[in-house]
Amino acid sequence: MRLRRDKYHFQERGGFTVDATVKRGAEHLPFQRVPDPELCVVFLRQHIGPPNEPLVGPGDRVTEGQKIGDGEGHMCVPVHAPVTGRVTKIDTAYHPGLGAESEAVFIERASEEIPPLRLSRFDPDRLQDAEPDALVGAVREAGVVGLGGAGFPAHVKLSFRDKAEYLVINAKESDPNVACDVRLKQERPAELVAGIRAMARMLNVKECIFATRAQRGEFPELEERLRKAGVELAHIRPSYSVGSDKLLVKELLNVEVPCGAYPPDVGAVVHNVFTAYAVARGLYDGEPLTSRGITFISRYTGPRNLWVKVGTPMRHVLEHMGIPPDTVQRLVVASMLMGGAVPHADVPLVKATAAISAFDPQERSPYERERACIRCGYCNMVCPVSIYPVLIMEAEKRGQRGKLRRLHAEDCIDCGLCSYVCPSLIKLTGYLRRAMAEVKQG
Ligand code: SF4
Ligand code: SF4
Repeated sequence: MRLRRDKYHFQERGGFTVDATVKRGAEHLPFQRVPDPELCVVFLRQHIGPPNEPLVGPGDRVTEGQKIGDGEGHMCVPVHAPVTGRVTKIDTAYHPGLGAESEAVFIERASEEIPPLRLSRFDPDRLQDAEPDALVGAVREAGVVGLGGAGFPAHVKLSFRDKAEYLVINAKESDPNVACDVRLKQERPAELVAGIRAMARMLNVKECIFATRAQRGEFPELEERLRKAGVELAHIRPSYSVGSDKLLVKELLNVEVPCGAYPPDVGAVVHNVFTAYAVARGLYDGEPLTSRGITFISRYTGPRNLWVKVGTPMRHVLEHMGIPPDTVQRLVVASMLMGGAVPHADVPLVKATAAISAFDPQERSPYERERACIRCGYCNMVCPVSIYPVLIMEAEKRGQRGKLRRLHAEDCIDCGLCSYVCPSLIKLTGYLRRAMAEVKQG
């Protein structure tokens, strides 16, 4: 088969490209289910917002699908037991999304088979009879968060009825090491479209747009279902940065999301394809979000698409793939450009984990020592939101908060492209994250 070059190299600003060949072939590999681990570690906080309180304690027996953590705040999203078993402890563990220790429920899996608990279900054929608020409440009860990586509570975004004119489904598969979105489109088109229809009902939008990098005819069943559901299919140019919500809205609707604002402020609500799928499973099957598809990449095995329970330690995934965990030099969780390395293989997956990459000792480490800035300007040229990463880094180092504001550090979308192109291996994104936090503190 002849590979189209543009499919594997994403075109960025300034004439740069992002090499997406790392996932070459993964698009054609069906999901394989990873057996449930002996121990699941479920973080109480898997969303943007305040942490949940545990609803169970050490020694309690839990059934798969049972709610085990929830919180009072509008931004809280409950978490559910991914397996049936016994709670051994509530303790802290390294959270791959937060990059810090966070409280989690440790569940030892039981050997007996018990039917999982399910939530109340909606009839997809009677969607128009369902109240939007009831649907939004059910999405929250199913524990659905944004599965594109951010973990923003899905029910909050689905409550923007007063603002929303457009629902945009982000299926751009823009991360160079993530192919699970593609497989979802191939393998679960019915659920995916059912989820989009439910989201459109909740938001009462005038238009639904399905944004994809795929070419017409690549997913015939999905395309036919989208057409019947009245969802517009938009084919987007191959670019990594356009996968960001704000830039996707600009690309599709030609509307700029102003500094400090979000897509709903300009009438667009953007959801990832996996979120739409999780919404359908929650509403129509009563299945809370306790598992998801991910892409696993390593030189040991080549790429794979796996279906894994939330809370599964990465050690279990490696062992399932036949890789002795102590031979792995480092594990990178999520996007290769935006994600980060975790300190050990016992770190568990969270709802928003879309990818794991395992590197062997022969592969070049991106954590080599930084060299001095050579003033090449590449970071400024590639930045998709046209800010000046190198100047922001210098201002951040000097603690010049006023200058950070003048340089619009808060406009950074955390895409990681500046670090990616830097010939001196400077981790600019670390400086940018600190700069954003300082500006937001005021
Ligand atoms: S991480 Fe921020 S500063 Fe760096 S290229 Fe992306 S948007 Fe620009
Ligand atoms: S890309 Fe790196 S070396 Fe070039 S100006 Fe930016 S920080 Fe300096």
